[in-house]
Amino acid sequence: MSKRDYYDILGVSKDASKDEIKKAYRKLARKYHPDVSEEENASEKFKEAKEAYEVLSDQQKRTQYDQFGHAGPQSQGFGGGFGGAEDFGGFGDIFDMFFGGGRRRDPNAPRQGADLQYTMTLEFEEAIFGKDTDIEIPKEETCETCDGSGAKAGTSPETCSHCNGSGQLNMEQNTPFGRVINKRACHYCQGTGKFIKDKCNTCGGAGTVKKRKKIHINIPQGIDEGQQIRVPGQGEPGVNGGPAGDLYVVVQIKPHEFYHREGDHIFCEMPLTFPQASLGDEIEVPTVHGRVKLKIPAGTQTGKTFRLKGKGAPNVHGRGQGDQHVKIRVVTPTNLTDRQKELLREFGEISGSQPADEQEDGFFKRVKRAFKGES
Ligand SMILES: [Zn+2]
Ligand SMILES: [Zn+2]
Repeated sequence: MSKRDYYDILGVSKDASKDEIKKAYRKLARKYHPDVSEEENASEKFKEAKEAYEVLSDQQKRTQYDQFGHAGPQSQGFGGGFGGAEDFGGFGDIFDMFFGGGRRRDPNAPRQGADLQYTMTLEFEEAIFGKDTDIEIPKEETCETCDGSGAKAGTSPETCSHCNGSGQLNMEQNTPFGRVINKRACHYCQGTGKFIKDKCNTCGGAGTVKKRKKIHINIPQGIDEGQQIRVPGQGEPGVNGGPAGDLYVVVQIKPHEFYHREGDHIFCEMPLTFPQASLGDEIEVPTVHGRVKLKIPAGTQTGKTFRLKGKGAPNVHGRGQGDQHVKIRVVTPTNLTDRQKELLREFGEISGSQPADEQEDGFFKRVKRAFKGES
């Protein structure tokens, strides 16, 4: 069989650029692609164009072809393999155009069921210490009456006569690339390829029934907001004997009135009275692990933070334990009695306007200078 000239096949000149060659090939591929083309000998023409493109798009092969023609210096010549060589992205585009992004699917092939998501709200402490619990979720389960077939007992689904069981119908469509065959889901059988004459009374032919199902969930200690637990096989049932999907339990943690959490660390704020902060004290701080004694040194200021090592949340991956950070807030007394006021006035007179603390002295001086407009 005498072969046509590669440049003629693509309809480009001998000095065509790589881009021109690619463009010409894409155009032909659209026209002759065997899955979409109705042209005569489309498949032969497609192969021919592909072979021409493979040679002319490769600089080395193209040079050889220009010198030696189809004979080539190699015994097997050019061309060869159909489908094995690398495809450029263009094919994806073509399929996307005609099939809406999806590959054609065999409706009778086993398919995995859909994954389900369930949001679980936990108390602050439950997330820290973990929890074993049961949840009830509404989900589709395989119908036990018909074992998922959707057909009445003693009968079985028949093959859809409109699509012969493929679940798809060929639709002719005019497009800018010519008349093409477009595959559409068969509307007689909703793409299942089957037709159920006598429907199962329990599920009405669906093959599944909605049930509330109890599922045991083990929440690991240290789980954090937004993290999820995967429960394999507890999603929607599979189709045509495919495996079930998975269930994802997403964790939401209720805010706590005293603690807040960042990763494995817990933060809280402790109020101190003015005398406690000035003279020092030993106080008790609540932690999720129980009360802890904390020594407050004399002269503690608002904002000072103390760290209680290991009193945070355990790491969910088993990597150690967080801390609790205690931030101090010195509370200014209000609703003073006459006696308290008297003592405070006396305290103020003895102290003058200068605070006793050296470090804070500098701060007060900066405030004073600001008032006077000095820098
Ligand atoms: Zn059908
Ligand atoms: Zn049923």
